[in-house]
Amino acid sequence: MKTRLANELPSIENVRLFRSKIIRWFNKNKRDYPWRETQDPFKVLIAEMMLRRTKADQVRAVYDRLFAEYPDVETMAKAGNEELEEILYPLGLKWRNPAFRLVAREVKEKYQCKIPEAREELTTLPGVGEYVAGAVLSIAYGKREWIVDSSIVRLFRRYFGVRTSKEGRRDKHVVEIAKMYVSGKDPRKANLAILDFAALICLPRDPRCTQCPVSATCRYYALGRKGKE
Ligand code: SF4
Repeated sequence: MKTRLANELPSIENVRLFRSKIIRWFNKNKRDYPWRETQDPFKVLIAEMMLRRTKADQVRAVYDRLFAEYPDVETMAKAGNEELEEILYPLGLKWRNPAFRLVAREVKEKYQCKIPEAREELTTLPGVGEYVAGAVLSIAYGKREWIVDSSIVRLFRRYFGVRTSKEGRRDKHVVEIAKMYVSGKDPRKANLAILDFAALICLPRDPRCTQCPVSATCRYYALGRKGKE
């Protein structure tokens, strides 16, 4: 990779090359979860809200029962506190007042039970931030909408050598790269791929560089894993 000036954004060609390798890796290594078998925006929204605060295996444990009882916005909007808490009990105490019942009520009142298709609308819903909005738009609606979480920030810092501000997930350089990354075909797959890659290969403490399909062009690896992360 060509040496770049501090915080110069990578070229679109570099990002596309990175993306095609990540997707090729994903085709062989993707993780299977029940919420990846649906493109129902309601289920994707609720699953992503749970995943922001809880580990995937814990969410898997309640997923089927939650959607058997509350399969859509209408039923979730009417959910009783005790019934919902009972289903969510395995997730721990922090789930005593799940925001998704409030979300369902708001979607019912403001959007006639249809999950909005615009980031600006989604992010006004209770408990829905930029990440969840981007996940719903790309995974459920197949839109070219970016996602950034802390693992993606880490990956971009290492691979592209981008320096981020304290804003981390909201850093404008990181968001710009995430937009370039998702700008090609199949944004759903692209976003799922980068999440799995960051979670399984570019690990926080000990990245698996020897198994990494992009190590030949990774700035952090080229610097002997001594560069600033
Ligand atoms: Fe991450 Fe290592 Fe791959 Fe670079 S080479 S992207 S640091 S796993």
